[in-house]
Amino acid sequence: MLSKPLSALTAETLECCGVTAALDVEGGMQVVSPVTGEVVAALATHSTADAARAIDTAAKAFRDWRLVPAPRRGELVRLYAEELRKSKDELGRMVSIEAGKSPSEGLGEVQEMIDICDFAVGLSRQLYGLTIATERPGHRMMETWHPLGVVGIITAFNFPCAPWCWNAALALVCGDPVIWKPSEKTPLTALACQAVFERAIARFGDAPDGLSQVLVGGPELGEALVDSPKVALISATGSTRMGRIVGPKVAARFGKCILELGGNNAGIVCPSADMDMALRAIAFGAMGTAGQRCTTMRRLFVHESIYDQLVPALKKAYASVTVGNPLESSALVGPLIDKAAFDGMQTALKEAAELGGSVHGGQREAVEGEAAYYVKPALVEMPEQTGPVLRETFAPILYVMKYSDFDPVLELHNDVGGGLSSSIFTTDLREMETFLSARGSDCGIANVNIGTSGAEIGGAFGGEKETGGGRESGSDAWRAYMRRATNTINYSSELPLAQGVVFDI
Ligand code: NAD
Repeated sequence: MLSKPLSALTAETLECCGVTAALDVEGGMQVVSPVTGEVVAALATHSTADAARAIDTAAKAFRDWRLVPAPRRGELVRLYAEELRKSKDELGRMVSIEAGKSPSEGLGEVQEMIDICDFAVGLSRQLYGLTIATERPGHRMMETWHPLGVVGIITAFNFPCAPWCWNAALALVCGDPVIWKPSEKTPLTALACQAVFERAIARFGDAPDGLSQVLVGGPELGEALVDSPKVALISATGSTRMGRIVGPKVAARFGKCILELGGNNAGIVCPSADMDMALRAIAFGAMGTAGQRCTTMRRLFVHESIYDQLVPALKKAYASVTVGNPLESSALVGPLIDKAAFDGMQTALKEAAELGGSVHGGQREAVEGEAAYYVKPALVEMPEQTGPVLRETFAPILYVMKYSDFDPVLELHNDVGGGLSSSIFTTDLREMETFLSARGSDCGIANVNIGTSGAEIGGAFGGEKETGGGRESGSDAWRAYMRRATNTINYSSELPLAQGVVFDI
């Protein structure tokens, strides 16, 4: 049992992080914890005029920050990682309070922030371009990477802080100030991250004002960032619905955009799969974080020869999984974010049943009072890929389908809007390599013998099609935060023109 009310625990946690904002503003934006459905804070919100001011401050900061040598910029991110380590427990608890994640997943999200900071620190000495052979004698051609400008970061409720840090850590070493518009459902974690960042800034010493700012409020603040020509890059994480609005607006002003949108991720279990491993990976992928990860496994294709072995075992796992208050139990599945999420889940299950689906689980669990929405994860055996199976419902529903031949199941696998994450479970080399080949999974993430969720920092994260095409975090994702210039230097005494063009005057 919690020894104090959730609002008191929230206030205490925020205070430990150094947050000074008033949490009980009359008429302020209410922050509800999905753990109990209680209002844990009421915050003052920013106006669009505040957003415009924040953009101007960031634009001014850019003029100085771009001139700071990249390894020195990396030092700020290194200090931030140190401060994050010190506040890991409190930040993890904030994630659990605001997003309803289990303690281990809350802490895991903060660890992801630390990991990307470490990655970015190394990167701050590796922001290099190419030297390219030129056809002209006495010339040298090279490319250089320069800071891009102000980066607007819009984030979703289900990962209240890690995706911000994926962007911010890279943007800061690349020379760009950041403005963060967190989800209106999880602003407290953002304020906590910002307070911890300010400690790093204080230790750093000479950072320009407004290097990192947070805007608290609704979508209109995201729109202010999206519409401003002073924001060079918009990195937006959220639903495909949001991306359909944001993408064209940024394109219309020739801004740059990273879109990290919804997924409809699938796994394929082949006859040779290690069944025990597949079972555990599917259970975490489909039920972990109460199905509220962009990479959650939502569809499962099982070969007919093993269907009667795997699916009953899965049903057993679904029936026995623990659902409970993440702050006072060791339950594996916490709450849905709100009533709308619960309603969306029930609608999808009803539709699936009408289309011949056999639904196991999905019912509401009386874990906390009426205002909290806990559900038993649902496994739905579907006769075919149709109806709700074709879309992302942001809740723990796994649609299971039987397949007989490999090539057609690959087609079905790719025949949805989302293109984020995918998995195959097999020990057959041909199936594995085909899945990873040009005619295999069309997703940004394609895994073998692990689930669809739980990506780590070193690789580029993102997906194709309705997932938006953006890449963040590892690999060469840093390039999106910089502008490239190609430089040709003539150190000869002649002026030869490329392609043999003659222009003698
Ligand atoms: P959402 O789209 O409702 O909101 C996301 C953010 O966008 C919020 O901060 C919101 O205020 C802002 N927003 C909404 N409309 C806007 C507009 N017109 N202009 C500017 N900003 C706007 O998403 P959500 O419910 O918070 O999150 C769940 C969704 O996010 C799921 O679809 C999930 O798959 C996706 N997601 C994707 C990734 C990824 O990396 N691909 C990661 C996490 C979540």
